[in-house]
Amino acid sequence: MAEENVLLRVENLKKYFPISGGLLGRQLGVVKAVDGISFVIERGETLGLVGESGCGKSTAGRAILQLHKPTAGAISFEGANLAQLNGETLRKLRTQMQMIFQDPYATLNPRHSVGKIVGEPLVIHGVMRKGSQELKDRVAELMELVGLEPGYVRRFPHEFSGGQRQRIGIARALSLNPSFIVCDEPISALDVSIQAQVVNLLQDLQEQLGLAYLFIAHDLSMVKHISHRIAVMYLGKIMELTDRKALFNDPLHPYTQSLNSAVPVPDPKLERKRRRFILKGDPPSPANPPSGCVFHTRCPLAMEECYTAVPEFREMRPNHFVACHLVDEAGGSKIPEQAILAAGMS
Ligand code: SF4
Repeated sequence: MAEENVLLRVENLKKYFPISGGLLGRQLGVVKAVDGISFVIERGETLGLVGESGCGKSTAGRAILQLHKPTAGAISFEGANLAQLNGETLRKLRTQMQMIFQDPYATLNPRHSVGKIVGEPLVIHGVMRKGSQELKDRVAELMELVGLEPGYVRRFPHEFSGGQRQRIGIARALSLNPSFIVCDEPISALDVSIQAQVVNLLQDLQEQLGLAYLFIAHDLSMVKHISHRIAVMYLGKIMELTDRKALFNDPLHPYTQSLNSAVPVPDPKLERKRRRFILKGDPPSPANPPSGCVFHTRCPLAMEECYTAVPEFREMRPNHFVACHLVDEAGGSKIPEQAILAAGMS
């Protein structure tokens, strides 16, 4: 990966939340929501970040945008370490990093017109004056960009459908001309028929404006079409990270294999033949993560080593990173075929 193409670099990012209790509010422990994740995102690239609910993916997105102060680790954007910036410099850089939320209705002020909502960031950051023609023109341009009728600027959020409200959220996120957007489950709350339209819109905008996305979702089928590369997260850690093709055709981590086996195959013949690998139980609490490999309590292939030694997140094949004791340095899998079949994995 050429260094000059790197827009965002996340190194060993951790975000722990203290657990307090008792009469004196003493700290009883910590929830390790994000526990040492690393990746880069190139200009114009989409990195999908997938994992079950509560695995820390949204917290990671918020920590990258500095909405949560990271506990440890480094985040650099356009080559600048965000932790070392403050005041005006940080504020300016932050305008280039925006967020789209899962439930646009919850984040759009119901008492504000759509025009005000979309134009608000420009006024707050002093880019354009409230009520100016320049602002009105920019809002109309943004509405058109996301496929909304510019004449709707006087309407209120409740007058729009779920898909249209997500478009309003996207227009607002684009108002300051960002180069990077964290899309936090932007299609999870939408009807299946609308999901594809929003994904297509995001792809068109990426092509037109050169945007980079961190696209967060709880299931692989949601990131399949938009992502160039995909990171699979479990209990605060990244288990596997590689390009879309390798992740779907040749996943190396048992957790990715289980998620992958849940993605429907369009060909009915292949779908019938497909082996399912269903995980048992729920993920453990991030307040009390298992020792060794955090996935060992649910992994059908766990061996003694997995209970005590934390697998290193390493590049096992070119651009294919995995954290599993069963994947060897040569990029092959040490998993015996018999064990795979016995565990019901293909
Ligand atoms: Fe399973 Fe062990 Fe690999 Fe973890 S390290 S995924 S427990 S085989």
